[in-house]
Amino acid sequence: MLVMAPPHIDIWNQCLNTIRENIAEDSFSTWFGPIKPIRFEGHILTIEVPSQFFYEYIESHFLTLLKQAVRKCIGPQGKLEYSVVIDAGGSNNGVPTKVKMPVSSGDSNKKHNPVNPPIHNDKMVPNPFVLPGIRDFELDSNLNPSYTFENFVEGDCNRLARSAGYAVAHKPGGTAYNPLFIFGSTGLGKTHLLQSIGNEIKAQNPTKTVLYITSERFINQFMDSVRSNSVSDLMQLYQMVDTLLIDDIQFFANKEKTQDTFFHVFNHLRNSGKQIIVASDRPAHELQGMEERLISRFKWGLSASMQSPDYETRMSILTHKMYNNGIELPEEVVEFLAHHITTNIRELEGALISLLAQASLNRREIDVDLAKNMLDTFVEKVSREITIETVQRAVGEFFNLNVDTLKASSRKREVVQARQLAMFFAKELTNQSLKTIGLHFGGRDHSTVIHSLQTVSNLMETDKEFQKQVEALRKKLSMDLG
Ligand code: ADP
Ligand code: MG
Repeated sequence: MLVMAPPHIDIWNQCLNTIRENIAEDSFSTWFGPIKPIRFEGHILTIEVPSQFFYEYIESHFLTLLKQAVRKCIGPQGKLEYSVVIDAGGSNNGVPTKVKMPVSSGDSNKKHNPVNPPIHNDKMVPNPFVLPGIRDFELDSNLNPSYTFENFVEGDCNRLARSAGYAVAHKPGGTAYNPLFIFGSTGLGKTHLLQSIGNEIKAQNPTKTVLYITSERFINQFMDSVRSNSVSDLMQLYQMVDTLLIDDIQFFANKEKTQDTFFHVFNHLRNSGKQIIVASDRPAHELQGMEERLISRFKWGLSASMQSPDYETRMSILTHKMYNNGIELPEEVVEFLAHHITTNIRELEGALISLLAQASLNRREIDVDLAKNMLDTFVEKVSREITIETVQRAVGEFFNLNVDTLKASSRKREVVQARQLAMFFAKELTNQSLKTIGLHFGGRDHSTVIHSLQTVSNLMETDKEFQKQVEALRKKLSMDLG
């Protein structure tokens, strides 16, 4: 005889299948493993989450995905309700209290107030623009109110960018910083800073039209407008903006038509004294596949870089985040995190969250041991991301060469040597085959790669200077690539 599972279990399992397909396995087990389905009535599925923190984290990081799954498995009227187990710090003899959380419906557009609203996870949100009729247009600034100057911790690593941003926010279009070009690698606060500028301008002057947009979104809007024959409407719309904040401009690479449109928007705005702020993961002159005329315009105003935070700044960021979220941690745990997570702020924040999740899950005190355990898995996860590209970038930086030069056919001695070293470390640090490595270096043959590896090994044995250089490079790589 076939035994059927109760409907709430069955439906939740179906949801889980959809969810699992869309996120990393470890995220899946951390965040969805502990959830229990408890009821299914009138299109509402009730799930139990272990803590308030859990609930907030899930809502802020997986809302879109959850909605998708619920719709798929229950249908368009499907809704999700949370039941949160409140842990009253052990004083209630471990008996969990349950509270109902507001229903997160599948069809409402109401935004929750999550710890960290997912501005990048908004792929399913309909396009905010009302294109036709332009005059009375309504424009969603795409600003996330939780990204402000107030909670942007200042340090040596971001001082210039921050103060230029602050100046611009108080006098948009009226400083020499137009455009303000902010660059730095991932997780260092570029998006946070752009958003802070936007929020500050709005706070100073609510009638100003401020628009934050990622370059990917701009590309999509542009392509849509090409399809619907409304490119000029789109351009007109952008030209009505008082301050344009455009994020991750590097994704414009090789998109010539988009660049062209953006170029015109840029000129128009700048000529009318409007403010433009651009964020990029690298300096303007390293933006490959970007038209020269755009690059030169990016250099007109001020370029400000953002760097990895030093120890003091890491400590103050952690302290600040804990304070904001009403969390207390032993001093030594905070120091431990600040010591070990050095590359970027997103990881620092991620580690803190992961630690809290584990503590809340296992109902134990957060101590250095727990932090150590957490870090082991966390660091492993981060370091798995070493790719041939990341090695090439790091080696390029070390020798002050750009990656294209490394891949191209130059036979200059220093280029050849840098290229050989990049291949050598690509072999050592990634699991890629010689053939794949060759392909990533301008389509070279695997025998060229073998030759490079041998040359490096030989030189290391015979040339002390070279050996020192390799060790210095190895150290940089281990720092950069975690
Ligand atoms: P990027 O856009 O450079 O990749 P983000 O702006 O997304 O980085 O920052 C990553 C995370 O780190 C965000 O949650 C952000 O709030 C936080 N963060 C970055 N810089 C700071 C800072 N100076 N103070 C406080 N939080 C920061
Ligand atoms: Mg960003």
